[in-house]
Amino acid sequence: MKPLSLSDLEVNHKKALVRVDFNVPMTPDSVITDDTRIQEVLPTIRYLLNQGASVILMSHLGRPKGKKDPKYSLAPIAQRLEKLLGCKVIFIADILSSEAEKICSQLRPKEVVLLENLRFYEAEENPEKDPSFAQKLASYGDVYVDDGFGAMHRAHSSVTEVPKYFPKKSAAGFLVEKELSYLSTLIENPKRDFYALIGGSKISTKMGVLISLLHKVDALFVGGAMAYTFFKAQGFDIGDSLYEEDQISPAKNILEACTKKKIPLHLPVDIVAAKEFNEKAEAKVFPIQDGGIAKGWQGMDIGPQTIQTWKPLLLKAKTLFWNGPLGVFEFKKFSKGTEAIAKILSENRGVTIVGGGDSLAAIQNFGLKEKFTHLSTGGGASLEFLEFGTLPGIEALTQKKC
Ligand code: AMP
Repeated sequence: MKPLSLSDLEVNHKKALVRVDFNVPMTPDSVITDDTRIQEVLPTIRYLLNQGASVILMSHLGRPKGKKDPKYSLAPIAQRLEKLLGCKVIFIADILSSEAEKICSQLRPKEVVLLENLRFYEAEENPEKDPSFAQKLASYGDVYVDDGFGAMHRAHSSVTEVPKYFPKKSAAGFLVEKELSYLSTLIENPKRDFYALIGGSKISTKMGVLISLLHKVDALFVGGAMAYTFFKAQGFDIGDSLYEEDQISPAKNILEACTKKKIPLHLPVDIVAAKEFNEKAEAKVFPIQDGGIAKGWQGMDIGPQTIQTWKPLLLKAKTLFWNGPLGVFEFKKFSKGTEAIAKILSENRGVTIVGGGDSLAAIQNFGLKEKFTHLSTGGGASLEFLEFGTLPGIEALTQKKC
């Protein structure tokens, strides 16, 4: 099953309601620090405008939890979008008002509207609370386009409910098509060897994808705080490191499954641990085979021996997927492992696909952006796509006839 493409929609003189993901990083005083997610949907917006459509954009930003909060306003994004598009962007602050209705109904071809943060309304994240929210949004457009890949794993009003009002008239935007085409290569026919490298801290949110990756990859690498739950499952000491007690048993199952399936599971062989969780804390390297991490110390990064050991293996892969930092990369002192691994992956000449805000931020910080095959704009969405082979937002769109 494949959703309709933009070219399958008749859009001339139509109002295109476009779900985008403008959830961009901002400073506390609302300065956009990375506009990649805005840049990535420009081709879809430009295409629609060139075809004679008007465009009504809708997005979320952060987690305002159903309440209007100026901190999460999309107003600065409207300004950035105006600059990038080189045309006026009409910003609608009260998206359910009669004024909003009037503006949308009177839109002329080639005009662009941006609606205020959808998550200012409880019904965005909880569609069952008020189905009229989706109905109202749907009333603004003639066709529906989803180009907000980063939110497609969410069964939210704008993602799965609004398209129900557009039978045969809802399609994937160019960014979503690009994301799906790269991520599909990972699950359909990856060039072998195919390795996945999963880091970050929340093992409970990534256990599902780890299990499903076991059926797809030739080797699995686990770093970041996720590794400490595995160490615990193997009986090593982890000192005061982060871990998730209820994930020890699933971690044991993964270790067993890897042995059974003969899939190498590479865990760090040494860890840089600190006395405290801060940038200036005293730090020391613990080789794991010597017993683990001592009491009073917490793991912060992978160690130098791990980088040495993993390097030749990672360079061998023909396909690589990476999600999640290998350490607390926000602290310079503990970013060395993530930086070294990002550099190694950037030297790999095969297909290198990265998903996840933190891994992307790391790649950007280290100036390696251009060296990867594909940087996914959706961390959670790319992981869920790998796990299930589809997403709620994809299923909600009109499907192409085979
Ligand atoms: P996630 O959202 O699960 O991808 O986790 C990303 C977060 O994991 C980042 O903020 C990292 O600082 C954090 N992280 C990675 N390695 C460690 C570690 N060894 N100890 C604590 N936090 C970590």
